[in-house]
Amino acid sequence: MTATLDIDQAATELEHADAADVLRWATANLPRFAVSSSFGADSAVLLHLIAQVDANIPVLFLETGFHFPETLRYRHDLAELLGLRDVRDLKPELTVVQQASEHGGGLYVRDSDGCCAIRKVEPLNRALREFDGWASGVRRGQTSERAETPVVQTVNREGRDMVKVSPLARWSTEDVDGYLAHHGLPRHPLAEVGYPSIGCAPCTRAVLPGEDPRAGRWAGSAKTECGIHIELPGEPVALELRDRSGR
Ligand code: SF4
Repeated sequence: MTATLDIDQAATELEHADAADVLRWATANLPRFAVSSSFGADSAVLLHLIAQVDANIPVLFLETGFHFPETLRYRHDLAELLGLRDVRDLKPELTVVQQASEHGGGLYVRDSDGCCAIRKVEPLNRALREFDGWASGVRRGQTSERAETPVVQTVNREGRDMVKVSPLARWSTEDVDGYLAHHGLPRHPLAEVGYPSIGCAPCTRAVLPGEDPRAGRWAGSAKTECGIHIELPGEPVALELRDRSGR
């Protein structure tokens, strides 16, 4: 049995919906649904929402091997605090040592796109093969590339159409701060000491007062995205889905 999902209509209807309602729509309509999280500065918002909607939803964490120790501790502690039952560490095919052996050390300096392709894009694509859709915490105000992010869209990954959900697309920094404060959620420890956006340690620095919040990511290069949120459009209107038995 298949169901046809009208993504354009869903995107229109959900544009002004609460983030939790967007996630409820996703869990009701996508038989195999996950969320990706960097366990970064703002991640507690989406993960708290996920925990309220369904703590069994798989949470995909890209374990690049280059994270700050604080990120790995936060990933463990936040998952436990929120009661998330299925956090998965997505690992690259190559360990850090193997990558240095095959491509030379410091690939993130010489070819950061290549390093992100190995350590982020490929592992996420591999993990997403078992899902019909996933959510991320992308917000329109974060970068110019994200300014048009729909709340719901079809994207094509590795030749397959799937649904990408961005429940926080409309949220401002103030919305995020307010939500974290209202629910007493802990921030990533580095967010308190000048890191408003946190990725791999070799590619993240603290920002100076007045700098753009993402100025500390790949500082000194033109790169602003690791590649996991650069999407090819999927079919514009409809998506064929398996029924909930997985057939
Ligand atoms: Fe490599 Fe830096 Fe990308 Fe991490 S953010 S995968 S270290 S280039």
